Amino acid sequence: MGRSENILVTGAGGFIGGWIINDLLKQGYSNIRGVDIKPLANWYQKFEKVENRSLDLKDPVSTLAVTREIDTVYNLAADMGGMGFIEKNKALCMMSVLINANLLESSRLNGVNKYFFASSACVYNQSRQLHTENPGLKESDAYPADPEDGYGWEKLFSERMCRHFGEDFGLEIRIARFHNVYGPLGTFDGGREKAPAAVCRKVAEAVISGSHEIQIWGDGEQTRSFTYIDDTVLGIQKLMESSYSAPINLGSSQMVTINHLVDIVENVAHIKLKRKYMLDAPKGVRGRNSENTLIKEVMGWEPKITLEFGLEKTYNWIFDELSNGSKRSWH
Ligand code: NAD
Repeated sequence: MGRSENILVTGAGGFIGGWIINDLLKQGYSNIRGVDIKPLANWYQKFEKVENRSLDLKDPVSTLAVTREIDTVYNLAADMGGMGFIEKNKALCMMSVLINANLLESSRLNGVNKYFFASSACVYNQSRQLHTENPGLKESDAYPADPEDGYGWEKLFSERMCRHFGEDFGLEIRIARFHNVYGPLGTFDGGREKAPAAVCRKVAEAVISGSHEIQIWGDGEQTRSFTYIDDTVLGIQKLMESSYSAPINLGSSQMVTINHLVDIVENVAHIKLKRKYMLDAPKGVRGRNSENTLIKEVMGWEPKITLEFGLEKTYNWIFDELSNGSKRSWH
């Protein structure tokens, strides 16, 4: 069934943006504009039926142009990466505030109805994440504010800006706090990759090179939950269909140590590696998990895909990319 709404997806050449467009096309939307700063040749996914544009959303003239005649905005554009990137690029991460500010103001001027913002578990107060046995971060744990420096502050500020554009100008706001999203067709090398892709790449490199050692950042006992891309995309769809406008966790509650994450990928690859712990490497908070009471209330659903299933898909894709000699990072 065709759907006539005009949709803008920003960060369209990136990991999650590409999968959202894929899903919107399957849902029957045909008027989609995708925007990313990357040259088109470097987009992870590109669809013929989509109007693809390469431009910088930090420029207000560009955001005004790309939001013209748009009904719904999905803002997935940001300068981002794993801990190795965000700990060393705080100013750059904060500059993403320009993308959101320009898009919100342009949306107001152009009469956009609905606006999705991709927030992050990095908004949560760091004092709630000091122990490995984290019971799960509730939405209210973002305040009092002490988020991840740089990247997390930008997300928290942008969440609030969204809220006020909703309250003051009637823009319908939807905000998901993602918890470590992973899957095929995302960054796995170049320094911006996150833990699941990095581990899959390192294990695949060990298989290909025959050097059976793996470097792990920290002592490997830090905990996280990881969300497979299909769950993230379905959750976004459900959130957009709901009337819930405050920030909400969109993350798996299957919490594991990084050591266990490595165990799972080793099982997929049928290999056992010698682990070398890099205790001075960036490691982020000690323990993080998603508390899913609210999402179950709002959507009657929560992410369900197991790490074992998702990592097999991700590992196989990265293994194939490496075997074919692909380099995916653009920066
Ligand atoms: P990604 O890096 O693959 O995609 C982001 C895209 O935004 C990139 O393609 C990049 O080129 C584009 N971009 C950056 N600056 C731009 C600009 N000035 N103008 C236009 N495009 C620009 O990352 P992703 O994993 O797809 O993340 C999408 C969103 O979700 C981001 O806002 C990110 O902060 C958020 N998020 C992701 C995760 C995760 O685990 N992947 C977790 C929490 C939040």
